[in-house]
Amino acid sequence: MFNKLVTSNKTNKMNIRDRLTHLTPEEIQSHNAIQVENHKKDYEEFLDAFNKDCCSLCGMKLNYFNESERCLHWFLLPEGIRKKHFVSYLHEPIGFFNLDFYLRWVASIKEPLKNINDLTNNISKSKIVERTIKFKNLEWSLNYGDTDLKGHQSKNATFPHFHLQIINDNKLFIRFNDCHIPFSQHDLDVLHLLEEAPDLFEVRHIYGEGMSYIENPENKELLDETMKLADNTDTAALNTRSIIQLPEGQSMSGDMIDKLLKESRETKTPLRHLVKKNILILKLT
Ligand SMILES: [Zn+2]
Ligand SMILES: [Zn+2]
Repeated sequence: MFNKLVTSNKTNKMNIRDRLTHLTPEEIQSHNAIQVENHKKDYEEFLDAFNKDCCSLCGMKLNYFNESERCLHWFLLPEGIRKKHFVSYLHEPIGFFNLDFYLRWVASIKEPLKNINDLTNNISKSKIVERTIKFKNLEWSLNYGDTDLKGHQSKNATFPHFHLQIINDNKLFIRFNDCHIPFSQHDLDVLHLLEEAPDLFEVRHIYGEGMSYIENPENKELLDETMKLADNTDTAALNTRSIIQLPEGQSMSGDMIDKLLKESRETKTPLRHLVKKNILILKLT
């Protein structure tokens, strides 16, 4: 499920940078291609199972709950699960990055991007990572700050951990302070890489990108190229507005506008793309 470019916990700062900078472009490409392929396979299994109301991780129904069979699908709150089960589950290192991927995939099933608020300009001062992910009547929020990474002096919190909140039907099910969820060794390896080589290593949320995806202007353009009109604008993932400005001395007939609107409806192509073909200046806001 997760991009496993990890390093040994014995590797020091110099070794990590050294190793990454000495990789050839071919080695990086080959590594990434394997990761993307593995990721695709995991996602397809996840999606296939999910569409049958099953969990690809444990093979059981998504609504199956047994106290002794812990699984990430517990985050969908199967029938019978109580807060005490969850708190006990979260004492073990379930894996921050695995959980993040899982929740992102669930939230993206029907509508990509908009159910995952991972915008970096929304993060509170005391936190390094903060995100809220929504699916149906559930809302999961994950966060950690510097003090959580180091471990703080409250009871059961002296180790590196993250925090989690779950809201179900607008009611708090798990509060941020209910649990200090320990990072797994894999998490710590990735965090180490992110800290020491942020220019050389990144975690990409393939099939589970959040709103932060369009914080990058390159992605915004890419997204615009592939954008199609939604059947229902109320539930559309994105809402865009275009300002169409005719070049000096040019005009467009009403008939042409009608023709383009018709084509836009029929082909689901945003009007701005069709107008662009007619050599007009376009500005996406
Ligand atoms: Zn499961
Ligand atoms: Zn904490």
